[in-house]
Amino acid sequence: MSYLVPHFIFDSYSGITPDFLLSKGIKFVLCDIDNTLVTYDDPEPTKEVTSWLCKMKNAGIEIIFLSNNEKERVTRFARDTGYKGYADSGKPLTGKARKIMKEAGALQSNTAVLGDQIYTDMLLGARLGLSLRIFVPPIKDKKTLFFRFKRLLERPVLYRYNRMHKKT
Ligand SMILES: [Mg+2]
Repeated sequence: MSYLVPHFIFDSYSGITPDFLLSKGIKFVLCDIDNTLVTYDDPEPTKEVTSWLCKMKNAGIEIIFLSNNEKERVTRFARDTGYKGYADSGKPLTGKARKIMKEAGALQSNTAVLGDQIYTDMLLGARLGLSLRIFVPPIKDKKTLFFRFKRLLERPVLYRYNRMHKKT
């Protein structure tokens, strides 16, 4: 299970700076959209997201939106960002992501994954062997039973992260 444990947990994507990523040798970020950058109800990036993306772009970091949501949603979200978005990515399956990374020229060593789901985003990052897995708590979770169950399964993994990072 330890390979599911994120390397870092941030309170929000907005706390992740270009300097932090560059210090870890990161040039590419496979970035989830829903509940990581915006809620399911936001069809487009918020002002805050746009400004975060701008900072990344200025630092030469390539954000690649990788979503399991449908094409229409991802296309509209990515449209004005200047970054590419990929829908129906099949996370945590690695097939599409590998292809996308290859096209972008991204390597395991210089690519991070960012997302709000352990068994989707973090598992993908682990399977791809990415050098950095960053988790953020979901902005606003769906209240369906399925999602609640998924979150319940995430607890032991997050518990382990907290134990590993406990300040003594
Ligand atoms: Mg998500």
